[in-house]
Amino acid sequence: MKNADLEQSEIGRLAAPALECTGLAKNFGGVAAVAGLDLTIPKGQVLALLGPSGCGKTTALRLIAGFEEPDQGVIAIGGRTVSGPGENTPPERRRVGMVFQEGALFPHLSVEQNIAYGLPKGQGRDERVGEVLELIGLSALRDRMPHELSGGQQQRVALGRALAPQPEVLLLDEPFSNLDPKLREQVRRDVLGILKASHATAIFVTHDQEEALFVGDVVAVMNEGRVEQTGSPEAIFHHPVTKFVAQFIGMVDFLPARHEDGRLHTEVGSIDWPELQLEDLDGMNGNSNSQLEVMVRPDCLDCLPAEDGRGVVVEREFRGAFYLYRVRLPSGATVRCLLSHTTEYPLGASVTVSLRDGHHLRPFVGDRLVAVPHNGTAPDH
Ligand code: ATP
Repeated sequence: MKNADLEQSEIGRLAAPALECTGLAKNFGGVAAVAGLDLTIPKGQVLALLGPSGCGKTTALRLIAGFEEPDQGVIAIGGRTVSGPGENTPPERRRVGMVFQEGALFPHLSVEQNIAYGLPKGQGRDERVGEVLELIGLSALRDRMPHELSGGQQQRVALGRALAPQPEVLLLDEPFSNLDPKLREQVRRDVLGILKASHATAIFVTHDQEEALFVGDVVAVMNEGRVEQTGSPEAIFHHPVTKFVAQFIGMVDFLPARHEDGRLHTEVGSIDWPELQLEDLDGMNGNSNSQLEVMVRPDCLDCLPAEDGRGVVVEREFRGAFYLYRVRLPSGATVRCLLSHTTEYPLGASVTVSLRDGHHLRPFVGDRLVAVPHNGTAPDH
């Protein structure tokens, strides 16, 4: 290659995403663990990979790290293809760091030695260990052994050890699942702070939707071996494109709806929806209303006592700061409403349920969100 070409390819690599997976597939016997996975992470972003147990999250990480070889697809790290036709770079040369559920520190090595482990001997090693100890806030505990640390401290050392060689991508596989809930919240705040301070690019695997919304700059929701939707936490929560994503990312109910005179009508209110897109109508076999539903989350609804109310409270869950009520509507459908703890209704109370100001209903046909009309604007909430 000429110098100019070399320079061009180096510029290309600098501009490339930290990680790009295209069409990844991996079968184990008859099980399609990963089935056409596409994933792109720009440099410096944390991507939360969220999905139910068995959807292929760990297998995806193992393919990226090089512990498994894909049956199909291409993986590029920092603009270099590490896996694809004719290419299978070994794990130690992929510049990928890993943090597992239980940290997996070397028990016979001190904090400092654990962090130094993956660094080449020689000039700069001690300085880098010092920097990382500072970053993870454990300089004072550098000589402790792993068994002398709390669970949260152990996870910070595991993170430090993975970050020390400055990997292109860091893979974290449910790193907090062995911590108790209170400690978990604190440790995930600390870990996110450390990732951001070191400008790391990371994939953070979790099956906890709250954790994904908190940790991810971007959230990718996986289902049956592939990514079903990628977007900002807000977009995934407010604009899920499938029922699976809507249900996986929080509490949600679906209510029957009717489209008439440029509006969507439901038992909890109606909103402007000038037209349904042709592709949506195609899915309805000519009957534009029979399969139409709206998605509504419990925080979108108000619920007020009313003598002539058409709803009846059929369930009540006390959640500390909130009550979660389930209300049966005249059609027989039920919706949940999340109300302040000061709003106390008995079972059987007659109520009126309505859409809160500023909240919107999302129309679905079958499993999919109906596209926003060409002349409409996508509501935010
Ligand atoms: P969890 O959240 O429970 O850890 P996951 O989303 O990480 O699940 P994977 O561990 O990637 O899911 O597994 C995906 C599917 O592939 C599962 O059905 C699993 O049983 C299967 N699988 C994974 N590894 C192997 C293997 N080595 N041999 C056979 N089947 C496997």
